[in-house]
Amino acid sequence: MTPLDELYLGMQGMAGVFGALFGSFLNVCIVRMPEDRSVAWPGSACPHCGAGVRPYDNVPVFAWFWLRGRCRDCRTPFSALYPTIEAMFALLCVLLFRRIIPDVADVDKAHLVALVWYGWLLFALVGLTFIDLRHKIIPDAFSIYSVPVGVAGAALCTHLGFPYAPTWQQSVVGAATGGLGLYTLMALYRLVRKREGMGLGDAKLLALLGSYFAAIPALLFIVIAASVLGSIVGVATLLWRRGTLQLAMPFGPFLAVGAVVWLFFGDDVVVRWTGFG
Ligand SMILES: [Zn+2]
Repeated sequence: MTPLDELYLGMQGMAGVFGALFGSFLNVCIVRMPEDRSVAWPGSACPHCGAGVRPYDNVPVFAWFWLRGRCRDCRTPFSALYPTIEAMFALLCVLLFRRIIPDVADVDKAHLVALVWYGWLLFALVGLTFIDLRHKIIPDAFSIYSVPVGVAGAALCTHLGFPYAPTWQQSVVGAATGGLGLYTLMALYRLVRKREGMGLGDAKLLALLGSYFAAIPALLFIVIAASVLGSIVGVATLLWRRGTLQLAMPFGPFLAVGAVVWLFFGDDVVVRWTGFG
Protein backbone atom coordinates (compact mmCIF):
# COMPACT_ATOMS: atom_id res chain seq x y z
CA MET A 1 0.00 0.00 0.00
CA THR A 2 1.46 3.34 -1.03
CA PRO A 3 1.39 6.36 1.32
CA LEU A 4 -1.26 7.88 -0.94
CA ASP A 5 -3.45 4.79 -0.53
CA GLU A 6 -3.02 5.07 3.23
CA LEU A 7 -3.96 8.74 3.08
CA TYR A 8 -7.08 7.93 1.07
CA LEU A 9 -8.03 5.17 3.53
CA GLY A 10 -7.47 7.56 6.44
CA MET A 11 -9.75 10.13 4.81
CA GLN A 12 -12.49 7.51 4.46
CA GLY A 13 -12.08 6.74 8.15
CA MET A 14 -12.46 10.44 8.92
CA ALA A 15 -15.61 10.55 6.79
CA GLY A 16 -16.94 7.62 8.86
CA VAL A 17 -16.16 9.33 12.18
CA PHE A 18 -17.79 12.57 11.04
CA GLY A 19 -20.73 10.53 9.80
CA ALA A 20 -21.17 8.85 13.20
CA LEU A 21 -21.00 12.19 15.02
CA PHE A 22 -23.52 13.78 12.67
CA GLY A 23 -25.59 10.60 12.93
CA SER A 24 -25.77 11.25 16.66
CA PHE A 25 -27.01 14.78 15.96
CA LEU A 26 -29.43 13.29 13.44
CA ASN A 27 -31.01 11.29 16.28
CA VAL A 28 -31.55 14.54 18.19
CA CYS A 29 -33.20 16.07 15.11
CA ILE A 30 -35.41 13.02 14.52
CA VAL A 31 -36.68 13.06 18.11
CA ARG A 32 -37.03 16.82 18.59
CA MET A 33 -38.00 18.37 15.27
CA PRO A 34 -41.52 16.88 15.15
CA GLU A 35 -42.05 18.23 18.70
CA ASP A 36 -40.85 21.71 17.69
CA ARG A 37 -38.06 21.58 20.27
CA SER A 38 -34.65 23.15 19.78
CA VAL A 39 -32.07 20.73 18.37
CA ALA A 40 -29.24 22.83 19.82
CA TRP A 41 -30.21 23.05 23.49
CA PRO A 42 -30.40 21.43 26.03
CA GLY A 43 -28.19 18.34 25.76
CA SER A 44 -29.69 14.86 25.52
CA ALA A 45 -31.36 13.45 28.61
CA CYS A 46 -33.09 10.21 29.55
CA PRO A 47 -36.79 10.61 28.70
CA HIS A 48 -37.68 8.52 31.77
CA CYS A 49 -35.62 9.89 34.67
CA GLY A 50 -34.37 13.13 33.09
CA ALA A 51 -30.69 12.47 33.89
CA GLY A 52 -28.45 14.20 31.35
CA VAL A 53 -26.37 11.96 29.06
CA ARG A 54 -22.75 12.29 30.21
CA PRO A 55 -20.20 13.35 27.56
CA TYR A 56 -18.40 9.99 27.82
CA ASP A 57 -21.72 8.18 27.28
CA ASN A 58 -22.41 10.27 24.19
CA VAL A 59 -19.97 8.40 21.93
CA PRO A 60 -21.87 7.42 18.76
CA VAL A 61 -22.67 3.73 18.14
CA PHE A 62 -20.37 2.35 20.88
CA ALA A 63 -21.93 4.01 23.96
CA TRP A 64 -25.18 2.20 23.32
CA PHE A 65 -23.32 -1.12 23.57
CA TRP A 66 -21.33 -0.41 26.75
CA LEU A 67 -24.50 0.92 28.37
CA ARG A 68 -26.19 -2.26 27.07
CA GLY A 69 -28.89 -0.07 25.55
CA ARG A 70 -30.03 1.37 28.90
CA CYS A 71 -29.94 4.65 30.82
CA ARG A 72 -26.94 4.68 33.20
CA ASP A 73 -29.12 6.02 36.02
CA CYS A 74 -32.53 4.36 35.86
CA ARG A 75 -31.82 1.43 33.46
CA THR A 76 -34.70 2.39 31.15
CA PRO A 77 -34.01 0.76 27.75
CA PHE A 78 -33.01 3.07 24.86
CA SER A 79 -34.09 2.15 21.33
CA ALA A 80 -31.60 0.20 19.20
CA LEU A 81 -32.61 2.65 16.47
CA TYR A 82 -30.15 5.23 17.91
CA PRO A 83 -26.91 3.29 17.24
CA THR A 84 -28.44 1.93 14.01
CA ILE A 85 -29.00 5.43 12.61
CA GLU A 86 -25.50 6.50 13.72
CA ALA A 87 -23.85 3.48 12.07
CA MET A 88 -26.00 3.87 8.97
CA PHE A 89 -25.11 7.54 8.54
CA ALA A 90 -21.42 6.78 9.14
CA LEU A 91 -21.55 4.18 6.36
CA LEU A 92 -23.41 6.53 4.02
CA CYS A 93 -20.78 9.23 4.61
CA VAL A 94 -17.95 6.81 3.75
CA LEU A 95 -19.79 5.80 0.56
CA LEU A 96 -20.46 9.46 -0.27
CA PHE A 97 -16.78 10.27 0.20
CA ARG A 98 -15.80 7.45 -2.18
CA ARG A 99 -18.44 8.59 -4.65
CA ILE A 100 -17.57 12.30 -4.71
CA ILE A 101 -13.80 11.85 -4.32
CA PRO A 102 -13.05 8.57 -6.14
CA ASP A 103 -9.29 9.15 -6.10
CA VAL A 104 -6.90 10.83 -3.69
CA ALA A 105 -5.78 13.04 -6.59
CA ASP A 106 -9.31 14.53 -6.66
CA VAL A 107 -8.96 16.11 -3.23
CA ASP A 108 -9.33 19.84 -3.88
CA LYS A 109 -11.58 22.71 -2.82
CA ALA A 110 -14.26 21.94 -5.42
CA HIS A 111 -14.62 18.29 -4.40
CA LEU A 112 -14.56 19.03 -0.66
CA VAL A 113 -17.28 21.68 -1.04
CA ALA A 114 -19.32 19.20 -3.10
CA LEU A 115 -18.81 16.58 -0.38
CA VAL A 116 -20.22 18.88 2.32
CA TRP A 117 -23.03 19.97 0.01
CA TYR A 118 -24.19 16.41 -0.77
CA GLY A 119 -23.56 15.52 2.89
CA TRP A 120 -26.26 17.98 3.88
CA LEU A 121 -28.66 16.31 1.41
CA LEU A 122 -27.92 12.85 2.87
CA PHE A 123 -28.45 14.22 6.38
CA ALA A 124 -31.83 15.65 5.37
CA LEU A 125 -32.86 12.45 3.54
CA VAL A 126 -32.10 10.12 6.46
CA GLY A 127 -33.67 12.55 8.93
CA LEU A 128 -36.92 13.01 7.00
CA THR A 129 -37.18 9.27 6.34
CA PHE A 130 -37.42 8.39 10.01
CA ILE A 131 -39.56 11.42 10.88
CA ASP A 132 -41.98 10.68 8.01
CA LEU A 133 -42.18 6.99 8.97
CA ARG A 134 -43.08 7.83 12.56
CA HIS A 135 -45.05 11.08 12.28
CA LYS A 136 -46.14 11.21 8.62
CA ILE A 137 -44.62 14.67 8.20
CA ILE A 138 -41.57 15.98 6.37
CA PRO A 139 -40.01 18.93 8.22
CA ASP A 140 -39.57 22.07 6.11
CA ALA A 141 -35.94 22.30 7.26
CA PHE A 142 -35.25 19.02 5.45
CA SER A 143 -37.23 19.97 2.34
CA ILE A 144 -38.29 23.44 1.16
CA TYR A 145 -36.02 25.43 3.53
CA SER A 146 -33.02 23.51 2.17
CA VAL A 147 -33.74 24.54 -1.44
CA PRO A 148 -31.54 27.69 -1.06
CA VAL A 149 -28.75 25.35 0.11
CA GLY A 150 -29.33 23.31 -3.05
CA VAL A 151 -29.22 26.33 -5.38
CA ALA A 152 -26.29 28.07 -3.63
CA GLY A 153 -24.33 24.80 -3.48
CA ALA A 154 -24.95 24.15 -7.18
CA ALA A 155 -23.73 27.68 -8.01
CA LEU A 156 -20.63 27.34 -5.80
CA CYS A 157 -19.73 23.81 -7.00
CA THR A 158 -20.08 24.84 -10.65
CA HIS A 159 -18.03 27.99 -10.00
CA LEU A 160 -15.26 25.95 -8.37
CA GLY A 161 -15.29 23.48 -11.25
CA PHE A 162 -16.93 20.40 -9.70
CA PRO A 163 -18.01 18.57 -12.87
CA TYR A 164 -21.27 16.91 -11.78
CA ALA A 165 -23.24 19.71 -10.13
CA PRO A 166 -26.02 21.45 -12.09
CA THR A 167 -25.64 25.16 -12.83
CA TRP A 168 -27.65 27.46 -10.57
CA GLN A 169 -30.12 28.00 -13.42
CA GLN A 170 -30.66 24.24 -13.82
CA SER A 171 -30.97 24.03 -10.05
CA VAL A 172 -33.71 26.69 -9.92
CA VAL A 173 -35.61 25.05 -12.80
CA GLY A 174 -35.19 21.67 -11.06
CA ALA A 175 -36.64 23.01 -7.81
CA ALA A 176 -39.60 24.59 -9.61
CA THR A 177 -40.22 21.43 -11.67
CA GLY A 178 -40.08 19.20 -8.60
CA GLY A 179 -42.34 21.34 -6.43
CA LEU A 180 -44.87 22.46 -9.02
CA GLY A 181 -44.82 19.15 -10.93
CA LEU A 182 -45.76 17.05 -7.94
CA TYR A 183 -48.20 19.70 -6.74
CA THR A 184 -50.01 19.44 -10.08
CA LEU A 185 -50.05 15.64 -9.89
CA MET A 186 -51.49 15.85 -6.37
CA ALA A 187 -54.24 18.17 -7.55
CA LEU A 188 -55.09 15.82 -10.45
CA TYR A 189 -55.08 12.80 -8.13
CA ARG A 190 -57.47 14.57 -5.75
CA LEU A 191 -59.73 15.41 -8.66
CA VAL A 192 -59.82 11.84 -10.01
CA ARG A 193 -59.70 9.72 -6.86
CA LYS A 194 -61.37 12.19 -4.46
CA ARG A 195 -58.74 11.56 -1.79
CA GLU A 196 -55.22 12.61 -0.93
CA GLY A 197 -52.48 10.63 -2.62
CA MET A 198 -49.37 12.40 -1.51
CA GLY A 199 -48.78 15.23 0.89
CA LEU A 200 -47.53 18.75 0.30
CA GLY A 201 -44.35 17.64 2.11
CA ASP A 202 -43.57 15.33 -0.82
CA ALA A 203 -43.79 18.27 -3.25
CA LYS A 204 -41.45 20.31 -1.04
CA LEU A 205 -39.02 17.38 -0.91
CA LEU A 206 -39.07 17.03 -4.71
CA ALA A 207 -38.28 20.76 -4.94
CA LEU A 208 -35.18 20.10 -2.85
CA LEU A 209 -34.18 17.09 -4.97
CA GLY A 210 -34.69 19.16 -8.13
CA SER A 211 -32.37 21.86 -6.78
CA TYR A 212 -29.63 19.26 -6.18
CA PHE A 213 -29.97 17.11 -9.28
CA ALA A 214 -31.75 19.33 -11.86
CA ALA A 215 -35.04 18.20 -13.37
CA ILE A 216 -34.22 15.81 -16.21
CA PRO A 217 -33.64 12.93 -15.90
CA ALA A 218 -33.11 12.81 -12.11
CA LEU A 219 -36.62 13.69 -10.92
CA LEU A 220 -38.20 11.32 -13.40
CA PHE A 221 -35.98 8.49 -12.19
CA ILE A 222 -36.57 9.28 -8.50
CA VAL A 223 -40.36 9.47 -8.81
CA ILE A 224 -40.53 6.22 -10.83
CA ALA A 225 -38.15 4.41 -8.46
CA ALA A 226 -40.10 5.64 -5.42
CA SER A 227 -43.43 4.59 -6.94
CA VAL A 228 -42.17 1.11 -7.85
CA LEU A 229 -40.59 0.64 -4.43
CA GLY A 230 -43.71 2.02 -2.72
CA SER A 231 -45.94 -0.39 -4.65
CA ILE A 232 -43.74 -3.38 -3.76
CA VAL A 233 -43.70 -2.48 -0.07
CA GLY A 234 -47.44 -1.70 -0.22
CA VAL A 235 -48.30 -5.12 -1.68
CA ALA A 236 -45.92 -6.87 0.75
CA THR A 237 -47.57 -5.08 3.68
CA LEU A 238 -50.97 -6.03 2.33
CA LEU A 239 -50.04 -9.72 2.18
CA TRP A 240 -48.24 -9.62 5.53
CA ARG A 241 -51.21 -8.09 7.34
CA ARG A 242 -53.66 -10.30 5.47
CA GLY A 243 -55.77 -7.69 3.80
CA THR A 244 -55.79 -4.67 6.07
CA LEU A 245 -54.51 -2.08 3.63
CA GLN A 246 -52.55 0.70 5.24
CA LEU A 247 -53.74 3.64 3.17
CA ALA A 248 -51.66 6.34 4.78
CA MET A 249 -48.23 4.97 3.92
CA PRO A 250 -45.79 7.89 3.81
CA PHE A 251 -44.17 8.51 0.41
CA GLY A 252 -41.21 10.57 1.65
CA PRO A 253 -39.01 7.59 2.61
CA PHE A 254 -39.41 6.09 -0.88
CA LEU A 255 -38.47 9.39 -2.52
CA ALA A 256 -35.46 9.52 -0.17
CA VAL A 257 -34.36 6.00 -1.16
CA GLY A 258 -34.84 6.88 -4.84
CA ALA A 259 -32.70 10.00 -4.34
CA VAL A 260 -29.92 8.05 -2.58
CA VAL A 261 -29.90 5.49 -5.41
CA TRP A 262 -29.71 8.37 -7.91
CA LEU A 263 -26.90 10.02 -5.95
CA PHE A 264 -24.81 6.84 -5.90
CA PHE A 265 -25.71 5.19 -9.22
CA GLY A 266 -27.30 7.98 -11.32
CA ASP A 267 -24.68 8.14 -14.05
CA ASP A 268 -24.81 4.34 -14.60
CA VAL A 269 -28.58 4.61 -14.98
CA VAL A 270 -28.29 7.42 -17.53
CA VAL A 271 -25.70 5.54 -19.59
CA ARG A 272 -27.79 2.36 -19.56
CA TRP A 273 -31.06 4.05 -20.49
CA THR A 274 -29.93 6.57 -23.04
CA GLY A 275 -26.61 5.29 -24.31
CA PHE A 276 -24.98 8.65 -23.61
CA GLY A 277 -21.94 8.81 -21.35
ZN1 LIG B 1 -32.95 7.35 33.02
